Amino acid sequence: MRNFTNSKRIAIKIGTNTLSKGGGIDGLFIRSIAGQVSELVKGGREVVIVTSGAIGMGAGKLKINITSAGIQMRQACAAVGQPLLMSEYRKAFDKFGLACAQVLLTAEVLNHRQTYLNLKNSIETLLKLGVVPVLNENDCVATDEIGTAFGDNDKLSALVASKLDADVLIILTDIDALYDKDPRKFNDAKPVKAVYEITDAILKSAGSKGSAFATGGMRTKVEAAKIAANAGCRIVLANGRTKNVIAKIIAGEDIGTIFMPKRKLSNRVRWLLNSAATGTITIDDGAVEAIKKKKSLLPKGIKAVSGNFDAGDVVMLNTVAKMVTNFSSDELKKIAGRHSSEIKNILGEGKKDVVATPENIVLIDY
Ligand code: GLU
Repeated sequence: MRNFTNSKRIAIKIGTNTLSKGGGIDGLFIRSIAGQVSELVKGGREVVIVTSGAIGMGAGKLKINITSAGIQMRQACAAVGQPLLMSEYRKAFDKFGLACAQVLLTAEVLNHRQTYLNLKNSIETLLKLGVVPVLNENDCVATDEIGTAFGDNDKLSALVASKLDADVLIILTDIDALYDKDPRKFNDAKPVKAVYEITDAILKSAGSKGSAFATGGMRTKVEAAKIAANAGCRIVLANGRTKNVIAKIIAGEDIGTIFMPKRKLSNRVRWLLNSAATGTITIDDGAVEAIKKKKSLLPKGIKAVSGNFDAGDVVMLNTVAKMVTNFSSDELKKIAGRHSSEIKNILGEGKKDVVATPENIVLIDY
């Protein structure tokens, strides 16, 4: 379970609280991370870092109270803080004779196949050169509201680990492990050593999104673990302040919580599950049953269409599945409830006769 001898590609996520000390960035901590990473790289492994801290560093520099700042102010802080953050990484890696690279991305970049492939190719090239890519969200150009942002770097790190086929994702945080209940409220909370399946009960014990416990981010970390586990990646959640934490984890020491992958989903299924939907198609019970039996979605089962999307986009089917649609939202509104044989009369020749074939439909609870 904890044997990482053959784990070649390692993603490491480092949170803002873990990186900072006394309201500023902790240069010594980053140096220790760089030292541990350089050992791994020298031992023939490939390491990708996903870092937070840009907003925090920018806020410190501009003397802005970030807790009351709105989105645009946070974006401004990120723009100021990101080069400062990278400069700390560069100085730290210099000490160990390694180069690091800045890679900024948005959810859109990962959702579109071409930009995703461009990203993958450039990261593969960096890794071949022995460079350590340091990734962060491009906070200035993305916001949650318009669905271009990841929401948090936990999710970003999981998607990166998944899309880059990492063998292990290490999430470094300021809590020792996942607990069976909130350790800040309950003295008898016990750490969970290993998770084999991320069930609803585990998600619940990690706290709801807005709760005080979730400010430690445990909920988003467990959700992230689920994404990475679906890619066949093991996830270790541990306290970043444990001495030599990365080296110890890779050596197989029993620290933090390990999440074991259940199975490795195909690239296409993972891509569909992790893509943001641009609309929702409401389908009737018969159509839900049909897609569960791996049948195509026909226009007859469609009750309503919401959102504006094109053919080829990813859309939700009720709340049960994600799908690549063969028709745009305008076209679907015209053929909803109709028989497939009527499609060509309504929309003209050259159209597909089903809304989506089974390989383009993935149940959320896959
Ligand atoms: N991208 C943000 C930053 O660099 C962090 C977001 C997060 O921590 O989830 O400050």
